[in-house]
Amino acid sequence: MGDSTRALCCIVPCYNEEASLPALFDALAEVSPALGREFGLTVGCVLVDDGSRDRTLELLRAQNAVDPNCHYVSFTRNFGKEAGLLAGMAEALRLFPGEDDLFVIMDADLQDPPSLLVDMVRALDEGGDDVDVAATYRKSRAGEPPIRSAFSHLFYRLMNSISDVSMRDGARDFRVMRRRVVQTVVDLPERVRFSKGLLMWGGFRTEWIGYENVERAAGESKWNFWGLMRYAIDGIVAFSVAPLELISVGGLVVFLLSLVFLLFIFVRALLFGDPVAGWPSLVCLITLLSGLQLLGLGVVGLYLSKIYAETKRRPLYVIREER
Ligand code: UDP
Ligand code: MG
Repeated sequence: MGDSTRALCCIVPCYNEEASLPALFDALAEVSPALGREFGLTVGCVLVDDGSRDRTLELLRAQNAVDPNCHYVSFTRNFGKEAGLLAGMAEALRLFPGEDDLFVIMDADLQDPPSLLVDMVRALDEGGDDVDVAATYRKSRAGEPPIRSAFSHLFYRLMNSISDVSMRDGARDFRVMRRRVVQTVVDLPERVRFSKGLLMWGGFRTEWIGYENVERAAGESKWNFWGLMRYAIDGIVAFSVAPLELISVGGLVVFLLSLVFLLFIFVRALLFGDPVAGWPSLVCLITLLSGLQLLGLGVVGLYLSKIYAETKRRPLYVIREER
């Protein structure tokens, strides 16, 4: 494996990360010699400025000036992390065309510690052609709000039971990938992108490496509770039709129950006459059923909105500047 022209390209989405970037560059500079010595890898970057309103872009320009292997792409506005990842991967494939080049996705905030790269690349190299991805997962979620952890666990349990693509609880996007893996993900034509699922979808052989949770080095998380909730719903809609099946089955069950109920009412009226009563039960039935109908409509609407997004075929981002 001593090929000295191999590159390891770090793909980093950055949104208002002026506080973390200097530490990220330091951390990368620190592992570079080891990666070069042990695996003959040169470290390169594609950093994506996702419409930051702070000095992120200035820092990226400055870094590119001192290290021409450190490329950047800057969006016209904030298009979201998924768009940043896609742009980063597409540009990385173009800028690092070597057949043996490796690619790694990482956050700008050092929550994906670059020091782990050595172990990750070693796992890939030792696996030879049998391993395509060296991925990481967090062994614990220490330092994270407990409610967020609880919902994350629930999400992974749910996801794994209703979708064909298996996702490991705590899995990060932080993974070193061979070229064919990145190419496969970039080539997927869908607009509504849920990378955690897309990265697993290809079914490539993956070696998992666990590490303790690291808190953000600086700045603050871009995700709030509702943001994560929407992300989770996007993930479910993108990788499972279970909600649609559920409402069909629910509809069928309610229909069968109502047949039984109908028979019961009919027989009772025949036997005991029909004194006017039952207003409360009627109101209950109406509210229950219209609630169920609205829920069903909402679920269908969710899928429809994703289909709408797909059919518009809008590009996922607009680039203003790249180097
Ligand atoms: N990010 C981005 N665009 C966004 C939101 C986030 O490019 O609209 C980047 C952010 O700069 C960071 C990564 O995505 O590098 C993960 O975000 P963050 O650390 O805020 O999420 P957390 O680690 O809390 O899940
Ligand atoms: Mg983070």
